[in-house]
Amino acid sequence: MEGPNFLVINPDECIDCSVCVAECPVDAIAGEQELRPDQKHFAQLNRELSRHPDWKRITVRKSPLPGHEQWVGVKEKFRFLERQSPRENDRALEEAD
Ligand code: SF4
Repeated sequence: MEGPNFLVINPDECIDCSVCVAECPVDAIAGEQELRPDQKHFAQLNRELSRHPDWKRITVRKSPLPGHEQWVGVKEKFRFLERQSPRENDRALEEAD
């Protein structure tokens, strides 16, 4: 599933075949059983975001996003996670007013 700047795998649909783990060129995928203690929260995050109504299922191969090389070595990327598109963020802010 694809969000504004992040991809997730639905743990409830994954059959743990590990094909994607080996295919990811930047080691960004780990099986749920292989997660380190400091990574365990990502399983719940993947579950939550794969149910987000605005996140879309990826059904065709896509090219890497522009600038993807700049993110390979960046640590603590979690703080950059966007759950909603800018338009949804604006709507949420309007509803909060
Ligand atoms: S390729 Fe990855 S996401 Fe798909 S079923 Fe296998 S382990 Fe799960």
